[in-house]
Amino acid sequence: MCGIVAYTGKQAALPILINGLKRLEYRGYDSAGIALTSESETKVYKAKGKVANLVELLAGQEDSLLLKESTCGIAHTRWATHGSPTQENAHPHASPENQIVLVHNGIIENHNQLRAKLKADGYEFLSETDTEVLVHLVDSFYDDDIYDAVIRALKQIEGTYGIACFAKNQPGKLIVARRGSPIVIGMGDQEAIVASDASAIINYTRQAVYLDDNDIAIVQGGDIEIRTLDDSLVTRQASEIDWSPDAAEKGGYEHYMLKEIFEQPEAIRNAIRGRIDVNAGNAVLSGLSLAPRELVDLQRLVVVGCGTSLNAGLVGQFATEDFAGIPASVEQAAEFRYRNPIVGSRDLVLAISQSGETADTLAAVREAQQKGALVAGLVNVVGSTIARETGQGVYLHAGPEISVASTKAFTCQVSVLLMVALKFARAHRMSHERGKRFAEEILAIPELVERVLAKNDEIARVAESFVKYEKAFFIGRGYLYPVAMEGALKLKEISYIHAEGYHAAELKHGPIALLEESMPVVALLNDGPGKDKTLGNVYECKARNATVLGIITEGDEEAKQAVDHYIEVPDAPLHTAVVPATVALQLFSYHVARLRGCPIDQPRNLAKSVTVE
Ligand code: GLU
Repeated sequence: MCGIVAYTGKQAALPILINGLKRLEYRGYDSAGIALTSESETKVYKAKGKVANLVELLAGQEDSLLLKESTCGIAHTRWATHGSPTQENAHPHASPENQIVLVHNGIIENHNQLRAKLKADGYEFLSETDTEVLVHLVDSFYDDDIYDAVIRALKQIEGTYGIACFAKNQPGKLIVARRGSPIVIGMGDQEAIVASDASAIINYTRQAVYLDDNDIAIVQGGDIEIRTLDDSLVTRQASEIDWSPDAAEKGGYEHYMLKEIFEQPEAIRNAIRGRIDVNAGNAVLSGLSLAPRELVDLQRLVVVGCGTSLNAGLVGQFATEDFAGIPASVEQAAEFRYRNPIVGSRDLVLAISQSGETADTLAAVREAQQKGALVAGLVNVVGSTIARETGQGVYLHAGPEISVASTKAFTCQVSVLLMVALKFARAHRMSHERGKRFAEEILAIPELVERVLAKNDEIARVAESFVKYEKAFFIGRGYLYPVAMEGALKLKEISYIHAEGYHAAELKHGPIALLEESMPVVALLNDGPGKDKTLGNVYECKARNATVLGIITEGDEEAKQAVDHYIEVPDAPLHTAVVPATVALQLFSYHVARLRGCPIDQPRNLAKSVTVE
């Protein structure tokens, strides 16, 4: 998920690798490391925290010849997914005596089975990472041919990877491979620089080859040979990278927010990967290891969070009540902590926070623990305070989120909450058949999102009509009520338009007093229960001269007639339609803010992680 840089050629590798790591810092990471190799020596250096800490560590070894003279090495910035952000868990990882050294982005799903087997074969593990499994696995196949060993290992891997590795006995030869996590090879004169993201290479070369999934490349000096996992030779066209260094940092996107919006299909795939068992019609959440017996004993789910996480929590509440038939509630974390809440040993309190550091949510966790509730976290950042203090929960695996306005964290939170609801539901009243369908509905979410992203240009055009307004209402009901809340939050955060989200039925209880020509209304009109009633509210808005933007199901002519502007989203059951509908509103808000010239990634007064009350 995070950063890889590797070099082989005729220059000293160290400065190139360090520079590359610095170019990748924008991605957010928690530790960094580097491995260098030569005919006589191979060494790994790692540091917790910033690349600057790694540089400091290396400065202490100035007399090392390897640092000065090595012309081949690999480097990494880690964004922890398995095991906390410590020096031991930082990459590169190495097999005994540095025989094989490797860096990895992504997630190895079957790491537990492979670890058990490798341990039985005598391998000793020094870290908690899934990656260390891969390096020992390659080692177990190594017989003086690194390419052959890597290909055999990768065939046993389930999950995603971008990797770069070398064998101590074959200095100068790098093996790089990709499945689900990008790898680009920059080509120079008798040299090559490999990275997970073009921003790390554009200072050296603009000629690059992008690997496809299941490609594996042998890189030595300027020679690059690309094969596929079934060992056939393939040709990948080199292309010229024409990004400016600034655009390169954002993967070619104008803003991190847009980049992260577009990362959502992959982020959601990572969040649900290995966690859905379609045959059993159930979710497998190993961090929330409650036996059916314990699940049945739980009498209530209480979700706590703030801001975007609170909106995601509402979806979790609705789905848990709807499908599991047990009471669920969602509470603003600050309110929960101060209002002396009634929770006990038969309640599961689920604390949601992207950063895992949100002060109010953390305080709510402590309050719930104090009262004897079972407390779990739903966080993105591995090893964060909430993850550590709850000791159990589900990581989002959404990858680093840089933009202050949250996008992929929300859609991953919703996807995980649906899996939590499924797990509860199967222990309560959901049938095996319904469980299977529910599992498939969750698996379909990434594709629904892809279909909305394909409408980016169209949504940008719709946004043009809303740039002039200074206020807006968002309305929805049922599962679409949290979408209205999240849509309004996104718009106000990044465009500074005063936007409020309401349950569509609330309109008549007050807000309708504000309706007039200058107050546009965004209505969530996806086909499903409640649509007709929200349509009724739309007519009420129109009767008061408000301009209405409808988020509607593809091909819904009735809804098209009722509104002034519309964005069509794919048909899906409402509990999953939440995700594509939200993505449509993320893009809408993004384009409105862009057209208004707002500083989208860092809106005024806002911080990415709210660590004060
Ligand atoms: N899953 C690996 C780990 O936790 C790689 C994380 C990354 O992509 O940075 O170490």
